[in-house]
Amino acid sequence: MSQTIQEVLNRASVFLEEHGREPKVAEILLLHHTNFSKTDLLLNLREPIDEATLNAFLKDIETHATTGKPVQHLTGTEQFYGRNFTVNEHVLIPRPETEELVQLILAKTKDQPRPLKVLDIGTGSGAIAITLKSEDPTLTVEASDISTQALAIAKQNATNLNADVKFHQSDFLQKWLGTGEKFNLIVSNPPYIAWEERETLSDTVKNFDPELALFADNQGLKAYETIINQAKSVLAPSGCLAFEIGHQQAESVTQLIKSAFPTSSVEVIKDINQKDRIIF
Ligand code: GLN
Repeated sequence: MSQTIQEVLNRASVFLEEHGREPKVAEILLLHHTNFSKTDLLLNLREPIDEATLNAFLKDIETHATTGKPVQHLTGTEQFYGRNFTVNEHVLIPRPETEELVQLILAKTKDQPRPLKVLDIGTGSGAIAITLKSEDPTLTVEASDISTQALAIAKQNATNLNADVKFHQSDFLQKWLGTGEKFNLIVSNPPYIAWEERETLSDTVKNFDPELALFADNQGLKAYETIINQAKSVLAPSGCLAFEIGHQQAESVTQLIKSAFPTSSVEVIKDINQKDRIIF
């Protein structure tokens, strides 16, 4: 007799737990393979599961349990600020901490005069740029990444989500140096983990998120140094820099900003875990 959905779910959860993984992943993968909504799933718990669906599901459970391959790479998607973003191995999986950065930017820019030009550096999946434009269509939003493979995903997300964002291939702000073009707000969630910390990361992160998106030289500060220096000629007068930062980087990044922009005021904001996470 074939197994019920409930039985399959229970067994997969136990299997994941035995491998030190989140048991909740079983439900996410089952929803993905059955195309059920959460309600459908509840209503069908006592129903049998068809063999093709079961096999595809079990294969993903096995892969996740044994290799740590992120569930987002298995489903090809992650939610960010209530929207579904396509992701793959070429882009950082967007994180909840970054949603706070977006929310703060929206609050800060709400009452500023338009046109207000925003540039997202290292856009990856496009999560920041696309969300800003979708939440506030009065913003003019552009975004860059050095990776053409990441840009392909970002453009696909912008099309899927109907967001009018202009994308550029550029090494940080290189493309704008010497052009005279200015932006009112430059935002980035750059790579900020020190190479020395690589081994402290989970296999799900270190073996699957792109290195380009995670790691930076100089104790993880190199990307901030570059962006802040280049911003001297690309940021509009009384413009704003907004960064996500590592929880121990507030002081160093403040110093970098203060030395490039001596008259600026710097604000550090904590994330929901009470860790320094955002700097304006
Ligand atoms: N901007 C993207 C994000 O915040 C990618 C960031 C990165 O790759 N470091 O999700």
